[in-house]
Amino acid sequence: MTVIIRGARLFDHAAAGPVDLMIQGEIIVGITSAGAVEVPGAEVRDATGLLALPGLIDIHTHIHPAPSDTADQVGQMAPLGGVTTSGLMIYPDPGESFGDAVRRVEALAVKGASDFCAHLRIEADRATEDFTPLAEIGATAVKLFMAHGAPGIQSGLKELTVAAARCATLDIPVLVHAELGDVVDGMLQEGIVSMDENLTWDDISFLRSPEVEAAAIDAVAAVGRATGARMYIVHVSCEAALEAALRARRSGTQILIETCPHYLTLTDEDARRLGGYGRVLPPLRQPRDVQALRAAVQQGLVDTVASDHCGHSDQAKHVDDLVGSAAGLPGGQDLGPLMIDAALGEDSWLKPQDVTKVLASGPAEVFQLPGKGRLLPGYDADVTLIDPAATTTVSAATTHTASPYNPWEGWQLRGAVHQVLRRGELIVDSGRLQAAGGQLIRKA
Ligand SMILES: [Zn+2]
Repeated sequence: MTVIIRGARLFDHAAAGPVDLMIQGEIIVGITSAGAVEVPGAEVRDATGLLALPGLIDIHTHIHPAPSDTADQVGQMAPLGGVTTSGLMIYPDPGESFGDAVRRVEALAVKGASDFCAHLRIEADRATEDFTPLAEIGATAVKLFMAHGAPGIQSGLKELTVAAARCATLDIPVLVHAELGDVVDGMLQEGIVSMDENLTWDDISFLRSPEVEAAAIDAVAAVGRATGARMYIVHVSCEAALEAALRARRSGTQILIETCPHYLTLTDEDARRLGGYGRVLPPLRQPRDVQALRAAVQQGLVDTVASDHCGHSDQAKHVDDLVGSAAGLPGGQDLGPLMIDAALGEDSWLKPQDVTKVLASGPAEVFQLPGKGRLLPGYDADVTLIDPAATTTVSAATTHTASPYNPWEGWQLRGAVHQVLRRGELIVDSGRLQAAGGQLIRKA
C-alpha cells in the first residue's frame, strides 16, 4: 500500500511549498507538490504545518555495559531526537573476532528502533590483524585512539599508519581520536599535571590543550598522505585543530571533519559549572573556538556533526569528582533538537540546508550508507517530522539515557520532534517511542 505524508514542507526547501511524500513499504517512491497526484487506495496522513527532514544520522555514539547506555538503549533514545541511524562504536573484547563483536552488538541493537552501523575500535595490538573480515561484516569504519588512558588502547603512529593503509584498501575511513597521547602521558609521568584530588579544570585544559589536539591532526595528515586513506577526525573541538585539518585538506590530504553539539554550544564556563559531569575529551574550549567551529559549519567545511553520546550513569560520573568521572557527555537525544534550533531559533546561526548536510547527507556519503541521508525516490523512508511552532525544553528528566544530568538542562529550543518514520514505520509519535526493529546497515 502507498502511504502519503501530505502537506509538510521540506526543512531545507520550505519556501518551495508543501509536498506529498509517497512511501511504499520501506522506500520513498515519490515527492510531489501537495495534492498534485492522487493514488487510489493510498493512506493519506496529514502533516500540514510540519517540516520534513531526512531521518537524522548520529554517526558517532558510544555503547557501554550497563549501567551506562547499552546498544538497545541508544537505539531507543536516538529516534526521540529525530535520529533514525546510529553509528555505534563497537569495542571487540580481547580475543573476540571483529565479526563476533558486531554480531554481539547487533543482537542487542535490534531491540532499539534506530538503524545502526558498525564502527570498530582497534586497539594498538590489533592494528596489524587481518582487516578483510571488516568488509564481510559491512563495517563502516575503524576507530583508533592516539590518546587513551586505559592500557593497550592508545595507538602510536606506526599502528595508525598500518591500520590506515588497510582501510584505504577497504575504502572505509579511519576515525581518529586526535590528541598526542605521548605528550599527555609524559606530562602525567613527570607530574606537570597530577591526576589527584587537587586536579582543576584548568589543569585538564592545559593537559589536553588545543596544541596537543592540533599537532595530532598534523600527524594524522602525514599518515593520510602516506597511505591514501580517508582520515576522519572525530570531535574536532577548537580553532587550532580545525585549522590543522583545513591546512591538510588544502594540501590535498583526504581529511574529514566531525564536530559535536557540545563544541558548538558550550564553553569552559559550562565545564566549570558542570564539574565532573562536564568531563569530556577534548575538553570544552573557549568562546572563540565555538565561533570558529560554527563558521566552519556555515562555510560547508565540516562533514558531520555527531553527538559522541556517552550515556554514563551516576556510577561513572560524579558532579563533585573531576578525577574519578568518566569522560564523555550525553547528547544523543539532544543533537537533532540543538541543530534544528540553530536553524530555526531566535539566535539562529545555521541555514537549514547546513543541518541536513551535517546530520544526514554528509554522514551517509562519508560512510556509504545505502538508502540513507536524503528524501528522494529510491531512498529509505526515514523521515523526521518537526513541529516548528513547538518548543523543546531540554531536561535530564525527559532524556532517555542512564545519564543523571543533561549539559543543556533547561535550554528552550525552537521546534520539536513530532513524528519519526524509519523505513516507513512510524517509530516516534508525539514524542513517544513506538517500536524496535533497528537493522544493521552495511557499507554499500
Ligand atoms: Zn567518541
